[in-house]
Amino acid sequence: MLGIDRFAPPHDLGSSHGRARLIREAYYEDPLYVPLVRRAYELWRALEHEVAAPVLHRTGAVMIGAAESELIMGTRESAIRHDVPHELLDAKQLHQRFPVLEPLADMVGVFEPGASILVPETIVGLQVELASRAGATLVFGERVMSWEGGTDGVELRTDRGTHHARQVVCCAGAWTPGLVAGTSSLLEVERQVQQWWAPARKEESFGIGHMPVTLWELANGRVFYTMPDMGQGLKVGWHHSGAVTDPDRVERTVSPEEHAGIADLLRRFTPAAKGDRLASQVCLYTNTPDRHFIVDRLPGEARVLLVSACSGHGFKFASVIGEVVADLVTSGRSAFDLTPFRLARFSAQAA
Ligand SMILES: Cc1cc2nc3c(=O)[nH]c(=O)nc-3n(C[C@H](O)[C@H](O)[C@H](O)COP(=O)(O)OP(=O)(O)OC[C@H]3O[C@@H](n4cnc5c(N)ncnc54)[C@H](O)[C@@H]3O)c2cc1C
Repeated sequence: MLGIDRFAPPHDLGSSHGRARLIREAYYEDPLYVPLVRRAYELWRALEHEVAAPVLHRTGAVMIGAAESELIMGTRESAIRHDVPHELLDAKQLHQRFPVLEPLADMVGVFEPGASILVPETIVGLQVELASRAGATLVFGERVMSWEGGTDGVELRTDRGTHHARQVVCCAGAWTPGLVAGTSSLLEVERQVQQWWAPARKEESFGIGHMPVTLWELANGRVFYTMPDMGQGLKVGWHHSGAVTDPDRVERTVSPEEHAGIADLLRRFTPAAKGDRLASQVCLYTNTPDRHFIVDRLPGEARVLLVSACSGHGFKFASVIGEVVADLVTSGRSAFDLTPFRLARFSAQAA
């Protein structure tokens, strides 16, 4: 097994950095993800066992919005359909349970106690180390430029030479549109800002064990999140609504207006959190039109598996998608129904 990356993972140039990623079962985006996320949890626990260190940091998560918002309705639908432990709280109960949260009177919250945080840099580092220990050859700082399939394999051309492979798994994240023919009109790379803030008061209320992850859907449909202070401040950011960009030209500086926008959100919904801004970082989403993933062989290139475009919600699935990919390349089959992730869905939509 050969793994090639143009940088040296874990790095902060793509989509897998920012110290915290949420994993939750009550999947508002679509109940189809619940069986996948359940297997992902099992595999994250197996990783914890293997490395004898915590990987899942249990925080709980609360989805907050109007009762009829997409976030609340979708979360409840998945929770009820798949029997995910959760509690529905009105605005008053939410504030009583988590006094630093100040929801509007017409907002409700769905609390999922089992939701947890994964630390992406730690996990990517572990995955790299374990792959290497298991015998994979990892080549960093080498950029794949193109490939050509033949009857007995694929010739992969890089900026350093060529490699011959029986199969290729392409998981180039935000660089996919520039690398995989036919995907640039389909995929959109979106700039995302993550910020960390020091609480102004009640510092103890923002740590793990006190503060869940929160996702808030506002009346205009925009969604923002906060993540508890794991020692580097409270993490805050918008989910989507970033500018469309290109991974090699993206603006990595965060503007004063972007800082002010987040400060305003904190002031409105969790004012005790709005102390000093500690840090900011730009990250990238790679979105499909329906925000579902792509896990499929490329048309006419049966030896190339495209695994990408997580549309801003893929990290939690890295463990299970890794297993799915391993099954596909070794046996050609997966235990999961991958129909929702096929490329053909886009041509069917266009027709
Ligand atoms: C701010 C933010 C918050 C998020 N929050 C969550 C969350 O709470 N929960 C969740 O589940 N998900 C979340 N996500 C989404 C999740 O992090 C991403 O979906 C996931 O990390 C994407 O991983 P990836 O492997 O596709 O991309 P990447 O991690 O960017 O990996 C792609 C790799 O391909 C390499 N590469 C690209 N082109 C080439 C080439 N030509 N040759 C060689 N190598 C190449 C790159 O160097 C890179 O290392 C969030 C994303 C962001 C940006």
